[in-house]
Amino acid sequence: MTTTPALIAYLQGLIPLDELPDTLGFSNAMWQAMENLWQRSIANLDMGLVIEWGGLLEISQGRLRLARPVSGTAAGLRLIVPSTSSFVSSFHTHPDSQGYTGIGFSGADFADMVNQGERISLVQSGRNLFALLRTEDTPVTVPVLKWRTRMNSLFEQAYRARRSILAASLIANRMISQDLGLAFYYGRMFRQLVEVYRP
Ligand SMILES: [Zn+2]
Repeated sequence: MTTTPALIAYLQGLIPLDELPDTLGFSNAMWQAMENLWQRSIANLDMGLVIEWGGLLEISQGRLRLARPVSGTAAGLRLIVPSTSSFVSSFHTHPDSQGYTGIGFSGADFADMVNQGERISLVQSGRNLFALLRTEDTPVTVPVLKWRTRMNSLFEQAYRARRSILAASLIANRMISQDLGLAFYYGRMFRQLVEVYRP
């Protein structure tokens, strides 16, 4: 398995959005690198302790790879982007101390992705992988607080309507992707990501 070549071409700005396929795959090395950080995130789950892990997505020699892994806290992490890196994209995990999974992008994740100029952002929560892709419709900057509030209210609305955490995340993430002109893909680990929304 290799990372979908059209995805790499899109991230490099070589092809337009409409040439991006509606399913995306990653190389085994990429899947494994993400899974390793997930396993580290939940290594002490039996004691109720979790830590977010993440890393930068870099393209080198035509391959997408996960580099510079760092850990944060249970509530977040800060990725260090070297000034020499012109390609800014990221992966991070969303572990939960009670073992819940299916937790998609937070409002702050959306705002950070937009404000940091990321081309793609990936989040793993359990067996689930969520992906956002910047498009020509995505604004350059957005206020963090506004999107944090909007995400929380959309999620709570869906969750109160007895949706699962995963379903509520997908509904809320899809709506904000629509608001911010982002393409949104979702899939199960080690399988294909499937398009949920594309502007
Ligand atoms: Zn996050």
